[in-house]
Amino acid sequence: MPEVLRAPLVVEFPFTRSLGPVQSAFLTGLRERVVLGVRTTDGRVLVPPVEYDPVTADELRDLVEVAPTGTVTTWAWNPHPRPGQPLATPFAWVLVRLDGADTSLLHVLDAPGPDSVRTGMRVRVRWAATRTGAITDIACFDPYGGAPAQPSGSTGEFADPVTGIVTPARLDYTYTPGRAQSAYLDALAEHRTVGERCPQCRKVYVPPRGACPTCGVATTEQVEVGPRGTVTTFCIVNIKARNLDIEVPYVYAHIALDGAGLALHGRIAGIPYDQVRMGLRVEPVWTEGARHPDHYRPTGEPDADYDTYRELL
Ligand SMILES: [Zn+2]
Repeated sequence: MPEVLRAPLVVEFPFTRSLGPVQSAFLTGLRERVVLGVRTTDGRVLVPPVEYDPVTADELRDLVEVAPTGTVTTWAWNPHPRPGQPLATPFAWVLVRLDGADTSLLHVLDAPGPDSVRTGMRVRVRWAATRTGAITDIACFDPYGGAPAQPSGSTGEFADPVTGIVTPARLDYTYTPGRAQSAYLDALAEHRTVGERCPQCRKVYVPPRGACPTCGVATTEQVEVGPRGTVTTFCIVNIKARNLDIEVPYVYAHIALDGAGLALHGRIAGIPYDQVRMGLRVEPVWTEGARHPDHYRPTGEPDADYDTYRELL
């Protein structure tokens, strides 16, 4: 049994959102060291504020300043902070009901250990030294023994309000492709493409997933396919992707490698984009050290007959 592969896999993208009047005021307030809530129609103050009343769905715009001190309503100890979390040392996740608010805000409490945290303890905002209009403008909460702090008297009106934020989303995995795809990747390292045949329907899966989703049985027979194949369908890409050094327009195609029971996808080059067509015969082009073909190029053979790939679109 060959070794099953493992590798880190990071999926990361920036998410840009506009804030609207309530979130804009809330985040701009944090930048100015002011915590704003919003008053509901029945008089409760929600912190963090929302645009619509969660009970009546009424639009809410009545911003109210609350104090930077409050009470922990519940908590959980985090002994192993992960990259990007608010504190690098062990801390407590806390829900804090700020003085003047009726709901609780999720944040973190800097405390020496779980024995020093309890529900009902009093805490105070520690402001970040550099503030940009983000929830991280509150660096964390600290234990606090004093009287409730007084609001600053802010009206909720600020010069140069924050109107949008960029939230980086990041998923950090250790990925293992399993037995079938490990064999597929090992073969690709030798510039060979290996699929697996279903013992019942005889379909050859490329890349193999280890089982036939139609028959529900394991696939074990390895079958080398390609290297040549047929373009079954394609699209012309006109939008340049970030961090991708390919000039647009270019063609991305479904390619049925000879002997494969379904198409994989790859870029077509070595031919003007507007001359790519269904049935075009192509072969992989490898670059030094790569684990996947860089692209596919025309072989010069006559186009494949439609009936030979009509089931592989
Ligand atoms: Zn099958």
